[in-house]
Amino acid sequence: MALKKKSALQEKQGVLQPETTNSSAAQQIKKSRSKQFSVDDFVTKIIAGDIPFLSRAITLVESTHTAHQEKANQILERCLPYANTSVRIGITGVPGVGKSTFIESYGKHLTQQGKKVAVLAIDPTSSVNKGSILGDKTRMEELVTDANAFIRPSPSGTSLGGVAQKTRESIILCEAAGFDTIIIETVGVGQSETAVHSMVDFFLLLKIAGAGDELQGIKRGIIEMADAIVINKADGDNIQNAKIAKTEFNRALHLYPPKESMWQPKVLTCSAIKHIGITEIDSMISAYIQLTTKNHYFTKRRNEQNMYWLKTSIEQQLKEAFYSNKKVAKQLEKEIKKLEEGNTTPFNAAKRLLKL
Ligand code: GDP
Repeated sequence: MALKKKSALQEKQGVLQPETTNSSAAQQIKKSRSKQFSVDDFVTKIIAGDIPFLSRAITLVESTHTAHQEKANQILERCLPYANTSVRIGITGVPGVGKSTFIESYGKHLTQQGKKVAVLAIDPTSSVNKGSILGDKTRMEELVTDANAFIRPSPSGTSLGGVAQKTRESIILCEAAGFDTIIIETVGVGQSETAVHSMVDFFLLLKIAGAGDELQGIKRGIIEMADAIVINKADGDNIQNAKIAKTEFNRALHLYPPKESMWQPKVLTCSAIKHIGITEIDSMISAYIQLTTKNHYFTKRRNEQNMYWLKTSIEQQLKEAFYSNKKVAKQLEKEIKKLEEGNTTPFNAAKRLLKL
């Protein structure tokens, strides 16, 4: 079989294409792909809730290409007045705890009430093993086909900071597109929970009941961050264990000082697979939003998060500008050599480099 010239499938070079490939359709696809949409086009479409455009804009946000980034920044600025309208929920838990099953169950619960749900992920492992916690197509099968849901896998990136920054910007785009609930999923790896915590309103830790010793294996700090601990898989033979775990976590939570939000973190049980306990979790999150709106903590925290991201962005951009500077790169090599030869100290080397 010969390679046809005008095939939409020909993107993968070297893959043999069937003779029947529709060349006019291929041309159309090519045309629409190469069409340069303006910032105006993007903003208008996103605000109208156009999902393909939302996806495209997120791709621009995730791109490392300078021109794409500039365009993404313009789109973001223009979308900002339409953002900040959602409830942002962070969900974390070890692999296998049932995060995707839970998000599907909870997500469906929300869309059935007419809500629009966007699911984004921060997965620091995705850049390592090229996979993603959301990359597996069998996950969230029902939510994927729900017209009121939007699911986006984790962007790949070299650093957690970079990935988190992009996710944060994607939140803005999703909100501008009319999504009123944004769920950010992460696996309990590295500092990803801290990153997620710094961009959500409500932080939920998903657990399963083990054989006693519930508090073992929980990273320090996570319990402090959690607004709720939900013990999943409370079904069948596991119901009793889940109840015991609930008591233990409740006891543990009471050892922590009250939160600035004045919210007393809750422990609930659920069965994501059987859709048991989902309504209660939804009511709990609503109660949290109500309380923190009333006592103004909600706005205060979002402002603090903005400040945090401002600082993080400055640091990141300074770093990038520094290391991508050709003079610096050249001098850095020299300084490293000097260091190895014992002719300078790291402090002096850094000082000279920064002066450049
Ligand atoms: P994730 O890795 O945290 O996203 O976990 P998954 O959602 O992929 O679930 C891991 C496994 O646990 C799957 O086989 C699910 O079917 C199962 N599972 C998830 N939720 C429940 C539940 O509520 N009850 C039971 N019995 N199994 C569940």
